[in-house]
Parts: sequence; structure tokens; C-alpha cells
Amino acid sequence: MSTKIQAIRGMNDILPEKTIFWRVVERKLSDILIGYGYQELRLPLLEKTALFQRVIGEVTDIVEKEMYTFDDRNGESLSLRPEGTAGCVRAMIEHGLLRNTIQKIWYNGAMFRYEKPQKERYRQFHQIGVEVYGLSTADIDAEILLMTARFWQVLGLKDLELQINSLGSSVARATYREKLVEYFSNNLEQLDEDSHRRLHSNPLRILDSKNPDLKTLIENAPQLLDYLDDESKQHFEQLQMFLNDAGLKYTINPRLVRGLDYYNKTVFEWVTTKLGSQGTVCAGGRYDGLVEQLGGSNTPAIGFALGLERLIALLEAEQLFQNTKENQPHIYLMMVGNEALIKGLSLAEQLRNEFPQLKLITHCGGGNFKNQFKKADKSGAKWALILGETELANQQIGFKNLREEQPQQSFSRSDLITHLKSLL
Ligand code: ATP
Ligand code: MG
Repeated sequence: MSTKIQAIRGMNDILPEKTIFWRVVERKLSDILIGYGYQELRLPLLEKTALFQRVIGEVTDIVEKEMYTFDDRNGESLSLRPEGTAGCVRAMIEHGLLRNTIQKIWYNGAMFRYEKPQKERYRQFHQIGVEVYGLSTADIDAEILLMTARFWQVLGLKDLELQINSLGSSVARATYREKLVEYFSNNLEQLDEDSHRRLHSNPLRILDSKNPDLKTLIENAPQLLDYLDDESKQHFEQLQMFLNDAGLKYTINPRLVRGLDYYNKTVFEWVTTKLGSQGTVCAGGRYDGLVEQLGGSNTPAIGFALGLERLIALLEAEQLFQNTKENQPHIYLMMVGNEALIKGLSLAEQLRNEFPQLKLITHCGGGNFKNQFKKADKSGAKWALILGETELANQQIGFKNLREEQPQQSFSRSDLITHLKSLL
């Protein structure tokens, strides 16, 4: 016997019993996005490694140790995308879509990071992401947050907390960076290996450390909010005013810095306590300098990504997935005998023409009545259509309600269509 090959660690199969939930969630979210004027962008899974190095930052967890990077057959270094913003900005510049215009973009797809697999932390995971280009004012920051709040509301989630912070301008961050280096240098013995390395290359990253031993040290560190430039301060105040006005609750988390280098001004996360330590479901912020840094014109931008695995796990934890009728067939067509099979397949096609939304399962593979009834019942269909010798001889189709006690009826083809019109 040959050995079985298994899936790669941290990469999940999403089985038929679950894909239904995915589809419901994806549809609800994309409907909201479209309702706010966003347009979908579909991007390659692979990009040149240099793109991610430039966008995400050389000294970040992702670029240092989490990318799936390899040389292609021509010796060019490529990476599976670890996030969507880099490819999105690349595409917008490449296709000239950022010239004097506002763009509101969303995408949905798989991302890849070589992380330590654990609950709700995978090596292939899926994000729905949003990016807005061409708006620098805090009104759009607020609208994006209101839209994400609508996501949770439509899905029935009540327990997500919004945390916001401002990273200020790059100039303000430079001043703050010095204070931070000074602070951590005075506490060198408490730093772990990663933080030691980052102390001079990228000290803000230390604040994003997941090492619990550093928690107190990080909590007592100087706060970025105390070093904000006037413009960023004003932007942050305006954002809060808009949110207060709209009645959206939030907390200010002065230690929120996000794991990527490209952010400035507004950053935010939606967090829950219901998923253990993997509590961030949705996260993002402003990245006003990135487009220019990648060779485009000076274009302000803001965006976020939400992790679909975590969102769906949360919906499951809250038991918000019961009773979905999404896949329930309307009709199970039973066909007993060869003659019935021929008539049955053409009947099924006629019904599909007549009712484009119809979910109809034809019983293929033969078998007696009893056996087919069992399958019909198990399918979850509401009604069974029955084609057997008697029905064929009378040019009739049997009709049975599988979910309610009712006498079996019998219809001609055209009467059946009329009857179904009254039901569907
Ligand atoms: P974390 O702090 O949990 O590592 P992150 O800051 O790396 O998250 P982002 O890069 O901002 O996350 O990605 C946005 C969202 O994508 C996260 O909030 C999370 O919901 C999801 N996500 C990120 N990495 C993973 C992963 N390895 N597995 C599952 N979901 C993920
Ligand atoms: Mg991460």
C-alpha cells in the first residue's frame, strides 16, 4: 500500500459543510462594500520579492521570516503574497488608475505567511481587504470604520472592540523613535533577541512584539501620541469627532503600531477576546507615503484587511451559523426505470429553464422507490417529484411534500410548472 500524502501544515481544506458559511459571509460583505461604492480588484498570488521588501519593510516579521520566497526557473526571486496592499498599490500605479481621481478598491483572496501554525494562525489564510486612494481627510477614515462596524452588525456580531491610534507623520515618528531607543537602551537586559536586533533598525517594531515577557516593559514605554505633529493630532481629533458623532464606540490604544512599516496617522484594529490570543479580526490604517515610495504620484491612501478564518471562527463561536438554508434544494427528482430517466432529465432541464434560481437534484444512478425516497429525504429537499411507470403511463408527474404531511399529488408538465410558480 502506498503512503497517503497530506496537506501542508498550516494550510486548510475548507470542506463542503463549511464553504456554505464562507459564501454567505463573502456575499454579505461584498454587498456592503458595493453599497459603499467599492470595486473589486483581482490580483496575482505571486509578485516579485522586491515589491514586498519595499512595501512591508525589510525589518518586519513578515519579510524577515514569514515569506514563501523562491527563485523561478529564470532565477528571479518571487514570493507568494503575504498581504494584499503591496500588489494593490503596484497594480494601481502600473495601470495608471491613480491620476487625479479617487479609487475605492476591495479584494478577497489567499495570503501566505510562514508562521507557527496554531489556532486561527495559519500559513495560508484569507483576507478581504479594502484600499482607498486619493483622500487625505479624516472623514474617509471614519467612514471606513463605520463600514466595518456595519460588517459586524449585518453578521450579527456584537463583541468586537474597536481600538484606534495615530502614528503621526514620519518626522514626528523620528523624534519618538529616539525616545524609544533611549528607553529600551536603558532596559537592555529585559529585551529578547528579536527586540535587541530591532533596537536600532526598527525600534517601533518592539512595541508590536507578541512576547509576553516584554509586556510590562512595552506598557511603560513612552507613548507615540505624546509626540504627534500638529497635523496628525488634528486629523486624529477629527476622526474621533466623526466617530463620536456617528455613535461608534472605540478605545484609544496608544501602543497600537501594526506589524507593517507603511502606516502613518490613523491605525486601527477590531479585536475580540473570544479567539484566544489570535484576537485581531480586522486591522488597517493610513499609508499616505506608500504610493509615491513605489514610484507613483503623491497619493494619500488608507486601507484594512480582515481575516476570514478568524471572522468565521468567531461566528461559529457565537453560534451565528445555524439554520442556513443556502444550499437546501427545492426539489429532488426521483426516476424509477429507464424510460423515466430519459423523460426525467429533460423535465429537469425544462424546470431549470423555467426557474433559473431553482435548486434541483436529479436522482442519478438508478435504484428502487424506497431507496430513492430515502435519498430524497436526506437531501433536505422540500419536495420530491416522482417519475415511475404509473406516472409515465398517465403522462403525469408525482409531487410530494417531503417536509409536511400532505397527500401526494399528480400534475401534467404544464400544471406542474404553474403549481411550482405558486410555490417558489
Ligand atoms: P497578528 O497580529 O494576529 O499577527 P497581523 O498584524 O500580522 O496579525 P495583518 O497583516 O494586519 O495582521 O492582517 C490583517 C488580518 O489578517 C489580521 O487581523 C488577521 O485577522 C488576519 N491574519 C493575519 N495573519 C494571519 C494568519 N497567519 N492566519 C490567519 N489570519 C491571519
Ligand atoms: Mg502577524
